Amino acid sequence: MRCSFCKKTAVAICRFCGRGLCDDHKKCKPYVSAAYDENRDDPKFIVVEDAMWCGKCNPVMKPIEMPEAE
Ligand SMILES: [Zn+2]
Ligand SMILES: [Zn+2]
Repeated sequence: MRCSFCKKTAVAICRFCGRGLCDDHKKCKPYVSAAYDENRDDPKFIVVEDAMWCGKCNPVMKPIEMPEAE
């Protein structure tokens, strides 16, 4: 896989949008993941402090309605 920005070999993948990222372009951003436990009604939230991020996409951490397809 290649970096989406400079075409170097990717060393990481954006956790949010899936872009390939090289060492120069990978960034970190806290990632919140909901973990559903079959034995509990309420979901647990797991925060990954340094998830890989491309720096370009704009992840939204709450459920939203999908915008109309372009
Ligand atoms: Zn790059
Ligand atoms: Zn991204």
